[in-house]
This record gives sequence, structure tokens and C-alpha cells, in this order.
Amino acid sequence: DEKRADELLEGLNPVQQEAVRASEGAVMIIAGPGSGKTRTLTHRIAYLIAARKAWPSQILALTFTNKAAREMRTRVTDLVGPDAKGMWMGTFHSVFSRVLRREADKIGFSRDFSIYDTDDQERLLRELMLRQGVDAKKYTPRSIRGRISSAKNQMMTPEAYAALANDPYMEVTARLYGPYNQRLRKANAMDFDDLLAWPIRLFEQHPDVLADYQRRWRYIHIDEYQDTNKAQYLLAKLLAAEHQNICVVGDDAQSIYAFRGADIGNILSFQNDYPEATTIRLEQNYRSTQKIVRFADAIIKGNTKQLDKKLWTENDEGEPVRLMEALSERDESQKIERTIRDLHVRGGIPWKQFAVLYRTNAQSRSMEESLRRGGIPYRMVGGTSFYQRKEIKDALAYLRLAVNPSDDASLLRVINTPTRGIGGKTVDGLRRYAAEHGLSLWQAAQEPSDAGLSSRAAGAVEKFAFLVARFASKAPHTPADELAREYIQETGLLQSLRDENTPESLVRLENIHELLNAVAEFAQADSDAPRTLSEFLQEVSLVSDVDRLGEEENRVTLMTLHASKGLEFKVVFVTGMEEGLFPLAKAAQDPTELEEERRLFYVGATRAEEILYLSYARTRYRYGESTSAVRSRFLDELDGDDLMRTESGARFAPRKDRFQLPDDDGAQGGYRVEYDADGGYSYESTPAQRRAAKSGYEQMDPHYYRTSLRPDAAKPARKKKA
Ligand code: ATP
Ligand code: MG
Repeated sequence: DEKRADELLEGLNPVQQEAVRASEGAVMIIAGPGSGKTRTLTHRIAYLIAARKAWPSQILALTFTNKAAREMRTRVTDLVGPDAKGMWMGTFHSVFSRVLRREADKIGFSRDFSIYDTDDQERLLRELMLRQGVDAKKYTPRSIRGRISSAKNQMMTPEAYAALANDPYMEVTARLYGPYNQRLRKANAMDFDDLLAWPIRLFEQHPDVLADYQRRWRYIHIDEYQDTNKAQYLLAKLLAAEHQNICVVGDDAQSIYAFRGADIGNILSFQNDYPEATTIRLEQNYRSTQKIVRFADAIIKGNTKQLDKKLWTENDEGEPVRLMEALSERDESQKIERTIRDLHVRGGIPWKQFAVLYRTNAQSRSMEESLRRGGIPYRMVGGTSFYQRKEIKDALAYLRLAVNPSDDASLLRVINTPTRGIGGKTVDGLRRYAAEHGLSLWQAAQEPSDAGLSSRAAGAVEKFAFLVARFASKAPHTPADELAREYIQETGLLQSLRDENTPESLVRLENIHELLNAVAEFAQADSDAPRTLSEFLQEVSLVSDVDRLGEEENRVTLMTLHASKGLEFKVVFVTGMEEGLFPLAKAAQDPTELEEERRLFYVGATRAEEILYLSYARTRYRYGESTSAVRSRFLDELDGDDLMRTESGARFAPRKDRFQLPDDDGAQGGYRVEYDADGGYSYESTPAQRRAAKSGYEQMDPHYYRTSLRPDAAKPARKKKA
């Protein structure tokens, strides 16, 4: 075992090795991008297991996305083999929702609690506002939700919040915060912030439970520590208090989530909380070329409040960073599309090694259009993702209701979807009755005639309640896929979409089938016994957009700069470098926000391994009008020598030795795009592409791609592009 453990140190430099060997006590690694923080953390975990210092189940690793956790798990398993089974790895939210399910009874919830997303939260708030006579135009549910969320992130109770309230908005929020919590509890539901706040309360109220988890997790690891918020900080502190074996890694220069409550101060507090802590600095960058490393350094120098860090690399000098100027956003995206195609076809760089990053989601539209027109396979992270679609949320609400009938938000969502004669008046009657008797809507729906409903309305409600109750009673002992299939069939959702019989409704129908496939896949995956619906729903509630980024797929990635954190790509485009967009207009006024935008630029630029492009357009459509744009101040801050201007962006041929340029330059074949009748479309490679593929580098699969609904995609037209 000693030997095996030592082998794990081989792929690391001496400083990284030191971080791995320092297994006892607190360790903080503060280092720049690409210096191997995540890699060191992964090897450290493998080392703990291989050297028999800990059982896998004694290791807790907290990452920023579920995807990062999955990757880490795979890497550790590669390093130490099947021994690695049983590690606790995931985001704060997923790990602590698991804890909460195990301990739910101790805080007055049942283990099948629902997790409310922002939609559910706002629905609930809107209703409370209505009841309290708060004007929803003047005080929007969305901003009230935001305020409650920050209060929860700072562990502020409704009473504490009310005491601080000093403007009308805060006063309204204060009036809603307490009742909102009560409603959640009655619905046996938690919002996202509760998933962190409740464990803290659990641990504070039940020292024995805390002691249990302190013993269980002997070694705690946190990646991207600079983006933890107060609740996350407190959780880590509580859990590490006994043994103090906690290793955090991060980079203050990459802190980009202050708007969500992240606090760089957590890095500074670490030294105070663990005075004996070892601080380790990594300075060698393994990710990027020298030019990119120097360029990134020049970006972050623009910030005054930044710890000074050295970063160097032994990698090649590399290509200059390129600046692309475009006439319009359309021109910008076309240039990018051409450049990507060029680098792919002539340079042999696989599609999945490209990322196009932007500041706001809205920018993706024109980029998507260009890639689609050019026949380049891509995937978009964010936007209207699968689980945010209406039909999917409807189906999930039914499933949630079967697992947790007290879930009022789900009940309201589907009680009349598809329409079954339960109108607004009937629902109001139920609400009133529930409020008067302190019942959940579900309980009220059990006694519809007592609620003063007409016999016709009562009959409809009874029928609905009977449907849900039937499947609720089956749920605990029926495999998830079997239950879901039968249940969704009987809700009438599928039939109503079939009856509607429009291209859109057929795509929706298809999507629900896709959801049922996902349930089946989940139910039958790896474990010994089929998994339950409750487990599926928990997993689905916690997937974030980055998580569904499947790496098997060979596609160009489009995503926001925020979502790109921790990732790396051979070629990166940072787009829309214009004043008012990047940095955003509101940040331009505020030095603190401006520094955060600059860190965001830094994060984006440091995702690139070999080639980095920046782009801006001189005009852009904003708020429905074409407006002229001024290039970003971030570009002007940089030395002219750091940037090379390119005219078209296209026709850039990378060096042959690095990318193994194919001999046959004529391989830039066209692409064929076929629109399906149901609004989806597929891309197929042409013979020219297949020839290019055969010449030895990138194997192109025929791609199949389905987008969210948009009217122009629904045309059953055929397009051909030469
Ligand atoms: P970020 O701040 O962007 O999250 P990071 O510090 O976590 O970056 P990693 O992602 O761990 O950096 O590493 C960057 C790249 O460098 C990875 O591809 C990793 O495998 C590689 N790398 C790190 N350390 C070494 C090493 N000692 N030898 C070879 N490759 C390394
Ligand atoms: Mg990392």
C-alpha cells in the first residue's frame, strides 16, 4: 500500500506533493488557474485511501457542480480502483440534502420532502402577497424571493430580518418571510437555501447528530472555496471542528459569485479559524501557453484588491491572443463560426475542444444561429434547459405529488392540467378552506364538499385526489419507472398533447417520453435494487445546467462565463467585449462590481489551453434595437503587444506540427441540415466530411440535435448549404 500510495505522487510537482502528504490538520491551497488545485485535491483523496489513512466513506469532498463531483469520483476510481466506492462527493446542496433526508424527522420534516425551485417559490410568494394585499406590481415576487434568499444565506431569521428592515421593500419582505417559511414547512418542502440552512440548525440543535457526522467524515475537502457563502462556510467549520482535517482550495482572483452571497472573506477567516493551518501556494500553470498565462496576468493586474500571485509555465510560448472586431453581433458570430470550422477541419481540433463564452444568456441566440447554419454541432449550457420546460415541470409536479402530497406548489400546478373542470374559483375555495382549518391543499382536497364547493366541482376534485392517492400508495413499493409510466399515462397529460396535435405539442409529447426514459435509466442504473421515485426526484431537483454537459458528446460548448469555472478547452472565445455588456452597465458605476467583472474576464481567459480569441461588435441588438457599441474598457487596459488583431477571424491556419494538419486542404465540405416535421432537426455529415474524417483525425458521428421550441425551427423545410 505504501508503494501504491507513493505512485500517486508521481504525477505531481513537489509543492503539490506536499499538499497531498499534509493529510492531518487544516490545509489551504490558494493558487492561480490551471495550477492543479483540483488535480491535487483529487490525488490527495486517492492518497488517503491508498495509504489506508481513511475509508472512502470517511471522505467528504464538496465541489461546485455535480459534474465536477462525478469527474472527481471517476478520477479517484481510476487512481485507486474499486476501493474508492462509498466516498461522499457532491455539491453542498446534494450532500446536505442527503443528510437532511436521513435526519428529516429530527427537524419535523418527512424524508420525502420536496425541493422547491425558484418558480415554486415565486408561486408561493405570489399567493401570500395576494392574501396580504401586497401589490405584486410594485413589489415583485422575484425580488422578494431574492431578498429572502440572501437573508437565508446569511443565516438571518425572519425576526432578525424584521428588526433590520428600514425601507418599504424590506418591510414587505419581512412580513412575508415568516409566513413563507411556515408554508414551506406545511408543504413538507425546502427551497435551495434551506438545504444549507436546515443542516446548520440540525447540527446546532442536535449535538449528537453533529458528533456523528464529525466522526463519519474524517477528511473534508472543498474545491472552489472562494465561492462559498456564509452557510457553506459555517457547515464546513462545524464539521471540521473536532478533527480539523480540512483541505480547501481556491483562488481569490476567480471569485465570481458575490451576487449570490459568496464571500471572499471566507479565505481570510480560514487562517483565523485554524491558526495552525498550512498554506500552500502553487505557481506553475499546466493548462495554458506562456502567452495566455501572461495575458491573464495582465488582466488581473487591473484589480487593486487582489492578492499578488506568481504564475508561470513551462508550456510552449503559443499563439498570440487574438482580437476580433466585428461590425455586428451577426458578423461576430459568423466570424467565430468560420474560425471554429477552420480550426476543426484544417487543424484537426475536435469540436468538443471549443468553447464560446458570453456574459449574458441572450448573446447565445445569434451564435446558435451561425453554428446551426454552418452545420457545426454544439450544445448550449443554460438557457431553457430540459427540466425547465413546461411539460416536463408538469409531469414532475405529478410525480412529486405522489411522493409528497403536501406539496402545495405541485398541486396548484397540476390540479387543472390538463383541464379537468377545476377552475380558479374552485381552487380559491380549497385555498380558503385550507387556510381556515390549517390544512394543506391536499388535505382540503380530501373533503371537497366540506370546502363549500358545488357538487360538480367537488366531484372533479375528488377524481383528481383519487388519481394522486392511488399512485401515492403505490409509490413506496413500485419501481420508479413502472410507476411513472403508468401514472403519467393516467394523468391525461400525454393524451391532451396528442389531441392538440400541433408540431409543438408533439415535441412536448416527445419530451415527456424522454423524461420517462430518464426515469427508467435512473431506476435501473448500477444499484442492486431498483431505485425509487423519491430518489429520482431528489436528483432531478439538484441538477444544474453545467451538470448535464455530457462529455461523450463531441460538440462545441456555448455557455456563460460563470458556468465555465474550473473547466478547460483547447480553444476559447470570450465574446461581446463591449462597454455595457462586459462589463455590464451597472458594474461600470461601482468599483467593487467592476472588479468582480474583471475577475470574470480572468476566469474566461484562463479556460484556454492553446488559443484564445476575444471579440466585440460595433453594433448589437439590445432591447429590440440596433445600438452602437464601444469596445470594452478591459481591452483598453491591456497592452497592445498582448493582443493581435485579426481581420476576418477566419483563415487562421495553426502550425502543422501542433495540430497535425491534414494534407488534403480540400476537405472543408459542406453540411446538410434537415428539419424534421416536429420542429427538431438533425445534422448529417456530407461525403466530403466523411472523407476528411477518414484521413485520420477526427471521427465525425452523425449528430442528432433537438432544441427548445422556437417558431422558426418548426418549419418543415429543407435547407441545403453547399
Ligand atoms: P482552476 O483554477 O481553473 O480550477 P486548477 O488549479 O484547479 O484550475 P487543474 O484543473 O487541477 O487546475 O489543472 C489544470 C490542468 O493542468 C489539468 O489538465 C491538470 O491535469 C494539469 N496538471 C496539473 N498539475 C499537473 C502536473 N503536476 N503535471 C501534469 N499536469 C498537471
Ligand atoms: Mg479547479
